Amino acid sequence: MLMGRRVTLCPYCEQGFVLRARIRATGMDIAICEECDTCWEVERGFRVVGFEDLMTREGLMALWSEIDVFAVQLSPVPYR
Ligand SMILES: [Zn+2]
Repeated sequence: MLMGRRVTLCPYCEQGFVLRARIRATGMDIAICEECDTCWEVERGFRVVGFEDLMTREGLMALWSEIDVFAVQLSPVPYR
């Protein structure tokens, strides 16, 4: 499906694509791996954080229904 497109593969699991999304309740922009749920906080220089840790910190449930995916990540993401 995505063959030939320049998309970013997650450096942690090397299986999922990295997606761009926005947390509905807060408007925070994140990148998130579709496979292992690793997140990058876009506005903090793509700081790496787990989805569960991030959402808990924001006082939210760590559910995909709490975020809106709107794009695929095209540039490389940090690998801590
Ligand atoms: Zn991953």
